[in-house]
Order: sequence, then C-alpha cells, then structure tokens
Amino acid sequence: MKIDRRSLHSTHSRSLPKSAAVSEFQVPGTMRIDEAGVVLHPDLKPYVRVSGCTDDHLAHLDSGFTVAFLGTGASLSPFRSQTSSALRMGGKTFLFDAGDGVQRQLMMSSVNLGEIEKIFITHLHGDHVFGLPGLLLFLQVIASVQQLEDKTIQIYGPVGLHNFIATTLSLGAAELKILRVEVYELMGGSCRWRHPGVQKNFSEFRHRGLIRKSIPKNADGTWTIMTPPEVNTVEEAERTHSSRYRGLYITAAEVEHTPKLQCVGYVVEEPKTQSINIDSEKATSIGLKPSRKYKALKWGFPVLSDDESRMIQPEEVMIGEKGKPRKLAILGDCYAVPQVMANLCRGADVILHENTLSEENSDAKVMIGGHSSAAMAGMFVNEVNPHVLALVHHSPTVRNASSVRARIAEANRQIKRKGTRVLFADDLMELVVPRSGFDFNASMVTKE
Ligand SMILES: [Zn+2]
Ligand SMILES: [Zn+2]
Repeated sequence: MKIDRRSLHSTHSRSLPKSAAVSEFQVPGTMRIDEAGVVLHPDLKPYVRVSGCTDDHLAHLDSGFTVAFLGTGASLSPFRSQTSSALRMGGKTFLFDAGDGVQRQLMMSSVNLGEIEKIFITHLHGDHVFGLPGLLLFLQVIASVQQLEDKTIQIYGPVGLHNFIATTLSLGAAELKILRVEVYELMGGSCRWRHPGVQKNFSEFRHRGLIRKSIPKNADGTWTIMTPPEVNTVEEAERTHSSRYRGLYITAAEVEHTPKLQCVGYVVEEPKTQSINIDSEKATSIGLKPSRKYKALKWGFPVLSDDESRMIQPEEVMIGEKGKPRKLAILGDCYAVPQVMANLCRGADVILHENTLSEENSDAKVMIGGHSSAAMAGMFVNEVNPHVLALVHHSPTVRNASSVRARIAEANRQIKRKGTRVLFADDLMELVVPRSGFDFNASMVTKE
C-alpha cells in the first residue's frame, strides 16, 4: 500500500501557493526570504528550494544528493525547530540528529518517510536527540501503513545512545513490533560523562526489538561506518550505484563541544567510480559500434574494439567530464574542530557548521557552552575549502533579515577562498548538490 503523503502534511503546508518563487516565499514561522537574497546567497538560489513550493528551477539538476534542513534552531528558539537535517539520495534518506519537533518537520518536508534507513546522532544533548524515541515509533507507524512485516533502522552515535532509547521506550511502555532498531555506538571516544552530578556507569538496559552494537575507533581517530563494496563487474557497479543499494563512504570523528559529552561529526562521500555518458560517434569512429559493450564503458570498464585489435578506455569516448564524487560534512555542536575531523571535511561540497554565538559575545561563551560563531565557522572553512558553508543551529537572537545579514557578513569577513559560499540555512530549505559539483562561476539556468 502506498502512503498518501499529502495526508501526512499539515494544512499549512498544503495551503502554500504553488506558483510562489523561492525568492518570495515565507518560511513558516520564520523570516521572509527577500528579493535581495539576504538568506539565500544569489549564487545559491538555483540550488536551493523551500519545501512546499513547486519550483522547476531545479529540474535540470540531478537531485540524487540533496541536503534537507529540517530544524535549524539551537535550543530555546521560538522561530525554528531544533536540530535535524537529512540527506536525500533518490530512494534512500539518512537523518542527522533528531531534536524535538522532528516528526512535524519531516511531515512538512519533501522527505519520504518510508525511505529513512539510517539515523546519525552527533551527541546526546536534548536539542539533538529528544525527538528520537517518538520518531522511531512514528517510523513504525509508517512501516505498518506500508504493510511491512518488519523493517530495520540503523542508528549511529555516542556511547549511551542505546540506553537512552531503551529507557525511554521501556518507561513509555512502547513496543517495537515491526521495527527492528540496531544501535551502533562509537566506542573509545575521548569525552564521556564527566559531569559530577551524572552517574558514570550505567546498567545495561534491554528492550525488545532494540539491538546494541558497537563500532571500534580506528587508529587514526576516526570511526568507519560504511564503505562501498568492491566493484569488479558491470552488474556489481549497477547494483552499487542504484539508489537502493548505493555504496557510500561514511566516516565519523570527534569535535570539541563540552567535556561532559562525546560529540562527533559525520562525513558522507560517494565512491570515486561514477557512470559516464558515451559519445557514440566518437566510439564508432575508433572502431566500436553501439552494442552491449557501451554498458561496460558507461561503468568505467575498458572493452575490446569490434575488430579486437585494441582495448578502448572509457575516457577515450566519454562526453564531458567524469562525475565528481559528492561529499557532505555535518559537524555536531563545537567550539573547535580537531585535525582528524578537519581532514575528513577537506574539499566537501557542503559543510554544516553551527552558528550559535554572535561575534561580540563568542569569547566569553565559548568555553562555557562549547559553541561557535559564524566568524569561527568562516575561519574553519579556510582550512578545509568547502564549496558551501551552511550555517545551522542558530541562536534565537537571529530573528530578522538584518541579524541574518550580520551573521553571513561575519562568516564572509573570515573566508579567504573565493569559491566558498555561505548559506544561512533555515527550516525546510533544501540544498541540491549537482552531480558535477557546484560551479559558482557558471551562470545557472533559471526560469523567469
Ligand atoms: Zn550540544
Ligand atoms: Zn545543540
């Protein structure tokens, strides 16, 4: 049975004007995105959409790697939902953090709820995780509507995550009947409960349907969550690149937040092998007429010419350039990013970095709250050269266009690299990462 997604959307979402352009749209409960592109950087407009709008600016872009900003507020924000974002990959969705209100945000977004397979938690502060138990039960309802007999969700995060979910579900007498939840804890982190008022050693909790697993820390300080399978045949390449079985590199490493809690960031990267388009005229001219061999070339395998006199390499007959693997880095709350994490972030298409403090109050609050400012985010990206710095986890004081403008300016004052753009991400925006990566010098096709 197919879920009627419209029935899951709120009245507010359904009533959005279909013809509204991105630049005229008012994000529910937040600020207006004005014509001057205060919130959306002008160069980013072709890539950014707001859920609920029908917008075919993006029709020409591959949407197989789209970052959906579900909640972009720090705690105590009356204007934004608490932290959560998603990576949509055409048939498969990963969720990052699940702050309070995540169910509502998901229902208002374009995320297909039945496609959520993995959830990544950066740390156990409430504004990143208190929406998780309810979300799991909600996903169980979705699975039941889909008439699934069982469904597995994998969750990754710091040690303590299993017990958090187990106790919350147990105390609420919530049963996992359809959903099987595997919780992978990242072992060996440098920060664990050190708060004097917090118990250090917890008992092992059990809850039916919840399976506790662990991932050891690598010698280089990272955690390997997923690597793409080795590809030796055309069939394996097709299978690995299909949306359902897509192979990816997913790695985690720690960031510096508060000594009380382990906090990590996650990096998701596509494999280097990507399919290419074949120039049939060129292929024919060098001795390879259209045949099943084109399929092998498309997936990067050399083939024999028709007269079997030589091998033809994919690079000889491809149109354009080989697709660049896309990379997303999501940092948990932080006041500093250690070198191990910075190395993982290098060259990312998009980095999500917090924006809790303002420039003038950052010094005093950094060590207390373990947070950073837009200026600190700007300084960090100089080190790792991403294409887009997406500011998230906004302070509640950022509530109008001028304060948004001020935060973007703070970041831009620090950024030395010309090819990096700052996006002030707000609730329910989506950023499409094109197959070929961002090109801020090319004029994007936009529909008037
Ligand atoms: Zn935090
Ligand atoms: Zn937070």
